Amino acid sequence: MEIFKQITPLKAYLKELRLSGKSIGLIPTMGALHQGHMALIKAAQSKNAITVCSVFVNPTQFNNRADLLKYPRTQERDTELLKEVRCDVLFSPEINEIYPQTAQLKFDFGTLDKVMEGKFRPGHFSGVGLVVAKLLHIVEPDDAYFGQKDWQQFAIIRMLVQDLSFNTRLQSVPTLRETDGLALSSRNLRLSPEERAIAPVFYQALRKAQLLLESGNTLAAVKETVEKMINNKAGARLEYFEMADSINLNLIDCVEGSTRPILCIAGYVGETRLIDNLFFHQE
Ligand code: AMP
Repeated sequence: MEIFKQITPLKAYLKELRLSGKSIGLIPTMGALHQGHMALIKAAQSKNAITVCSVFVNPTQFNNRADLLKYPRTQERDTELLKEVRCDVLFSPEINEIYPQTAQLKFDFGTLDKVMEGKFRPGHFSGVGLVVAKLLHIVEPDDAYFGQKDWQQFAIIRMLVQDLSFNTRLQSVPTLRETDGLALSSRNLRLSPEERAIAPVFYQALRKAQLLLESGNTLAAVKETVEKMINNKAGARLEYFEMADSINLNLIDCVEGSTRPILCIAGYVGETRLIDNLFFHQE
């Protein structure tokens, strides 16, 4: 595996490969890699000749400084994992390489970033847009891979790519889960054993909500049930539970009229913030 910390040699290396006709798949991550990330790498390997994984804890997408400082960093293990799955290139820049000066540019994604994560994490998606735009310029991938777990992020990156005419196809990869349903996440590393035991409640609540909606309950009633399910667990706290149209992210209160509704949830277990989602009718 080739490891780059600087943009210029990375670009030169990729240019050669591109000229020899090799397609490039980019997997942007913030490290603390797990099998969910590996699923993205495998998806890229099945479509692209060269896989480039970026590991960069992007400061501009953290609206909370404490969260940035606490974000898990497991650099050596990440490198080992990437070598094991035969990723071709690791790009792990320092902050100054990506932000040589404080970035002033802000993105506004219209209605997409005013709900759910955008509402509770002001500025978050502007920072995501900034770093993804930079990575797409640096790597110029044929395909870029994102997890369904961060569905709102995917919808927003789709707008970024369309509105800025990037020449990259976006691929969404299903969420990988532990056997008890908990979505794999770098943040799970921060859970104590007691918190880890509680954490699957978010996925359980999504499944329960789907069943209740299918059997004709109103969204208001379902929201109440979800809130109780989460908040009755000591140490857990619901931040939001919403149903949205998965394309335009408009919040909806009934499934009729939306081609593919999605249920989205976010909350805390102790100090750790977790998010998850479920496409309506998804098993
Ligand atoms: P992160 O390092 O958390 O920023 O995630 C990097 C990429 O991995 C994002 O596109 C995430 O959506 C994706 N990802 C994170 N967790 C999972 C998971 N459990 N299954 C699939 N993809 C994931």
